[in-house]
Amino acid sequence: MAVPISQAWTVATYVLKQKLKGRKRYPLVLMLEPLFRCNLACAGCGKIQYPAHILKAELTPEECFRAVEECGAPMVSIPGGEPLLHPQMPEIVAGLVERKKYVYMCTNALLLKEKLHLFKPSKYLSFSVHVDGQREHHDFSVCREGGYDIAMEGVRAAVAAGFRVTTNTTLFDGADPNSVRTHFDELMAAGVESMMVSPGYTYDKAPDQNHFLGKARSRKLFRMILSNRKKSWEFNTHPLFSEFLMGKQHFECTPWGMPTFSIFGWQKPCYLLQDGYADTFAELMEATEWANYGAKSGNPQCANCMVHSGHEASAVDYNFSSLKGFLVTARRYMFPTLYPDPDAQKLLNEWKPEHTSPLVQIQPSVAAASDSLQTVSGD
Ligand code: SF4
Repeated sequence: MAVPISQAWTVATYVLKQKLKGRKRYPLVLMLEPLFRCNLACAGCGKIQYPAHILKAELTPEECFRAVEECGAPMVSIPGGEPLLHPQMPEIVAGLVERKKYVYMCTNALLLKEKLHLFKPSKYLSFSVHVDGQREHHDFSVCREGGYDIAMEGVRAAVAAGFRVTTNTTLFDGADPNSVRTHFDELMAAGVESMMVSPGYTYDKAPDQNHFLGKARSRKLFRMILSNRKKSWEFNTHPLFSEFLMGKQHFECTPWGMPTFSIFGWQKPCYLLQDGYADTFAELMEATEWANYGAKSGNPQCANCMVHSGHEASAVDYNFSSLKGFLVTARRYMFPTLYPDPDAQKLLNEWKPEHTSPLVQIQPSVAAASDSLQTVSGD
């Protein structure tokens, strides 16, 4: 089972209640960003290019709890920045677990092993470890030699200590689908509960602007990776989101499904774009012009976006919006398919890299500023 039954039940009853209340837009996962600073400087990341005073700032536990209560979503994802650099992260996580929220604390795991003793295993807590591929690919992607080995050491230590451990893998143009499949084998062998995979988003702040995937290339890549899958692989994303990535389903973005709260407030409209901020969750939901976002809107910023934070909530909403959606989803869960596809296998067998230009490393001055801020935070 990709998620515990209690979690699946909590989410299903929550969404049903929203439907019975007639709510057209409702949050499914709160993206809670308590800080932007990080101990990595990845080429595809749009989060750590802020000036030093912003990278130094962080949400207090009370601000986090207020946001979680205002929003009401049953799941909370804590991205960043690197959450383990926040000195009060154990207190924040404990407070969310106490509120019976299913928490995915996203981490690059560089500090996971040494900070594990500050957390308690719980069915409500999962460490979602960012691993972008096999050793060489991950180190290249996060611009840090040895990053993969440290992250996997963190994964194994957390699994051994009884924590739920999941992974998230972001893919960029040029990703080797055969290597990604081997990467999945390695993650499952390390004992992770389940995995998530998503295409990267074209952050305008990211130092590397040349390796983001367009939609057609994304679908081809994900069809090669996710067809003919192994029985041992477990994914924690909705099965229809995985089909969306493979080009078998069409969903419009539902950015309200995964709202973002950070040191700036409630971010309009989604985790990726910054078209202003609202002071309250209610204001975010009421004042955002939702029709201006998603591929159908014609907004060029959304044209190539297929990311998880915009489209997985769409799959969940479809699940509960029609009998057809319910039946299709029920069939996927009751009779899981490995998506046999001889053409995808042929593409996989014949795959060759199309270009070899390297990812662009982040400006050394930005990386240095981020590094020095870790010292400021006392970690
Ligand atoms: S399509 Fe992507 S960028 Fe546009 S609103 Fe949705 S999640 Fe944000």
